Formats: sequence, structure tokens, C-alpha cells
Amino acid sequence: MSAGRDAGGGPSGGSRLLGLSDGLLVARALHLVAAAGVADALAGGPRPVGELAAATRTHPDTLGRLLRVLAGEEVFHEVEPGVFGLTETGRYLRSDHPDSVHAMLAFSELVGRSFADAMHSLRTGEATFPRTYGAPFFEFLRAQPEADRLFNAAMAQATRRDTAALIDAYDFGGARRIVDVGGGDGGLLLSLLGAFPGTGGVLFDQPHVVAAARERIGAAGLAGRCEAVAGDLFGALPPGGDLYLLKWILHDWPDAEAVAVLRGCRQAMGTGGRLLVIERMIPRGGRPHPAKTLDLVVLVLLGGRERTVPEYEALLAEAGLSAHRVIDTGSGLSILEARPADAP
Ligand code: SAH
Repeated sequence: MSAGRDAGGGPSGGSRLLGLSDGLLVARALHLVAAAGVADALAGGPRPVGELAAATRTHPDTLGRLLRVLAGEEVFHEVEPGVFGLTETGRYLRSDHPDSVHAMLAFSELVGRSFADAMHSLRTGEATFPRTYGAPFFEFLRAQPEADRLFNAAMAQATRRDTAALIDAYDFGGARRIVDVGGGDGGLLLSLLGAFPGTGGVLFDQPHVVAAARERIGAAGLAGRCEAVAGDLFGALPPGGDLYLLKWILHDWPDAEAVAVLRGCRQAMGTGGRLLVIERMIPRGGRPHPAKTLDLVVLVLLGGRERTVPEYEALLAEAGLSAHRVIDTGSGLSILEARPADAP
């Protein structure tokens, strides 16, 4: 019986487990090369590893070993011994690719360090991030402009990939004033205003995030139709919208805080208003789903959680809102449309 085979000659459960464990090493290699900016240094075509190491301030032999692993995953291509280029897949690691995932993977380098300490979350159910980095997630980002820039870019890149599916799935054109609560860099709201000329928008986020977004709004020529309002998610939210968006907000928070945000939305909107909770919903059944892995990320970073539709419905009910319908966008994100429970 050869190693890695069970008594019946098939691959053993042990090999399968060790293979799963190796996935961590591939993922970390990917995070490291993303954080070092290796793909951008290959924009002009394949380069010898020594030259690439000099361009990315990395150790040549070590970089070559990381690239060898990732060449095995078809991210890089070793065109001749010691000379690496990007594959079709690897091009998405470039920061200037229109569908780039660079910021998300570079930010994952920082996230991964918190996963190394995540026994704390397993023991307590709390976020691990504050132990790794000495401050809660968003507080840390406020004090670390480079990490903050990467996080906001990661969110923007992820949201950009889903925007077309959201626009196809829901008629935003019925709204007069769309309030994007925690709208980040404003990318989604600007796309909606672009796609639906009759709409106006309010971007709401933390002061430093809104300051950057305001420039984008101006550059898009949409300052006349889009306000940018700075404030606290747990304070008063901009009133008078007829459509409130919470995209990737509730999953950041434990139930009590999530209900507080929903109550804030309920207070800000009139009885005729609608609220869209846009999240990856945990599906029924045992199959793998990106919501189930993202759930671990928001747990370790923030003490947050991904939820099932009934779990969101329960939070909405506590905040005086009732779920009206759920739309699967086909991108992995769902839209849960809610209205005030006392709406006519
Ligand atoms: N909706 C965007 C961004 C999601 S990330 C998207 O889907 O791409 C979560 C957002 O919540 C960030 O933009 C962050 O700045 C904002 N946020 C976190 N805590 C906040 C607070 N206390 N007040 C206002 N905004 C907050």
C-alpha cells in the first residue's frame, strides 16, 4: 500500500486533509506576492526572478520559491528556468486590471495574521483582530492610512464585480433618493446614478472615507445629484431617502449592533421607504458557499457573522421592519428588500 492510499487503494482521508491544509500555504503565498506588488512589476512581460526581486524589494531565492508554488496553481508561468510571467489568471493580480482582485488579496495578508491567532475566536466567539493589532478593526484602519486605503480599494473592487448583477436584479430606477449607508468609496452609488438618470443619492460613511468619496463624486460630474454625508453608523442617519442600502454592513456586526443600525434606518426613512440588505446569505444545506467562508473572516476581524434569510428577518423584525422579498442576484449576493412593519 503506497503512502496516501487507504486499504482499498483510493486516496486516503488523511491525504485529503493534508491537501486541504496545504491550501493555507498556497493562499499565503498569494497574499505575500500581492502585498509585495509582484504582478504590477510583471506588467511589461516575463522577467528573471532576480530583476523581479529587485523591483519588489524581496529576497530573490525566496521570491522564486513562492512563484514556483504559484506557477503550480497557474497564477504565474515559468517561461524559462528562473523567468516568470503572468498567466491569464495572474493578470487579475495587477492593480490596473479592470476586474482586479489585487487590493483584496494584498489586504488578506493582514487578515491572515489575525487568522494565525484565531484560537481566541474559537474559544470565546469574539473577534481576534483587536488582539493581533491592538485595536478594533475600524479603529485600527482609522489610524493606518495605507491599510485603510487597501481595505477601501478591496471593498470597491469586490463591489465593482457585483454591480452589474445588482443592477440587473433590482429596479433602482423607481427611487428618487438612494441613501447608501456605509457606502465606502461611493462606487456602487455612482454606478446606480449613472444607470438610472432619474435618481439622486446620498453617500453616508465615516468622515475620512467620505472625504475621499467626495472627490470621486466630483470627478464623475455627479456632485449635483449626489451628496456625501459623514457620520456614525450608530448615530442619526440621513433622513428622507426612499431607498436605503446596507451592503456588506450588517455582516460586520453582532446581532445587537446590527439591530441598532436597522433601527437607525427605520427612523431615517418614512413609512413609504424601502431598505435593501445586500449580503451573501448562508444557504440551507451542507454545500460549500462563499458566505460560509466570508463568515469566518467577519468573525475573526469584527465579531460579525453572515446570516441566513430567517436570521436577517428576525433582526429586521426587532427593528420594526419586515422582509418583503429576497432576490438572488446570481453573483453570490442576495438582496433582501424590507419595508417598515407599519407601512400602509
Ligand atoms: N458598502 C460598501 C462598503 C462596505 S465595508 C461595499 O459594500 O463595498 C463597511 C463600511 O462601513 C466601510 O466603508 C466603513 O467605513 C463603514 N463603517 C464602519 N464603521 C462605521 C461607523 N461607525 N460609521 C460609519 N461608517 C462606518
